[in-house]
Amino acid sequence: MTNNNKRLLERIKNDKKEQERLEFTQHRLTKQEIANLSHEDKVRYYANSSDTPAANHGNGKTGPGCITISVPVEETCNHEAPCYVNKVCYACKGRQCFASVLGAYYRNWRLYKEDVKRYEDNLHLIISCSGLPLVRWNDAGDFANDDAYFQMTVNLALRNPSVKFLAYTKWYDLVNRWLDKGGTLPANYTVRFSMADKDWPVPNPHNLPLAFIDFSNKSLNPNIPRNAFHCKGNANPKDLEHSCTACQACWNKKVHSVVFAQH
Ligand code: SF4
Repeated sequence: MTNNNKRLLERIKNDKKEQERLEFTQHRLTKQEIANLSHEDKVRYYANSSDTPAANHGNGKTGPGCITISVPVEETCNHEAPCYVNKVCYACKGRQCFASVLGAYYRNWRLYKEDVKRYEDNLHLIISCSGLPLVRWNDAGDFANDDAYFQMTVNLALRNPSVKFLAYTKWYDLVNRWLDKGGTLPANYTVRFSMADKDWPVPNPHNLPLAFIDFSNKSLNPNIPRNAFHCKGNANPKDLEHSCTACQACWNKKVHSVVFAQH
């Protein structure tokens, strides 16, 4: 192990100050050194070891044509939402708990907080150079009840008119406020309000599209419209025919309600 890396490992263990971020970007740890870190320190390493936003494509559900851009649930989701309160968040289990994945979410959040304009410009480069048709915001996470974050997502839709953008959110008031003030969502940007159980009210004065969960316990279901589109995705991640890239129903504002079976 190099002296630099020894020093860095010591710092990771003993010093949680912001100062370490600068070191992280200058000294890469080896695979073995990373393996020796605790889960928490691995997350911090991945969050700080690069200044490139994590904007990936090809996940099993969304498929090869969709860029997903995520941020940490803890920092950005509505903590009063039933999925958070009842600890049934799908983004808090499985692969999304891997240190490298979680670290990528925290990296995005750090880059956004450090310089929103630079983050937006870098995402714009990634999106516009990718040639891919779809972007999904917040595969994990949400708008953080943050006007500037939401505005950034609108800006990127305006800057990339040939790309279709999608976000599900439980920050209803944030979006309603923005629309109340005269904001208009671009034609290529669909914001869907995520419904929860029937006891969770969803104010929707602007009649935005909705996303429902069809709960295993049917007594929890709110009124799901009869003509809602039932998602057939995710049965087999290798089955691209049922990926979002092939389906794209959620990106279509005319599909007012989509339903997902609880899993
Ligand atoms: S309805 Fe279609 S676009 Fe929406 S999540 Fe399911 S597969 Fe993806």
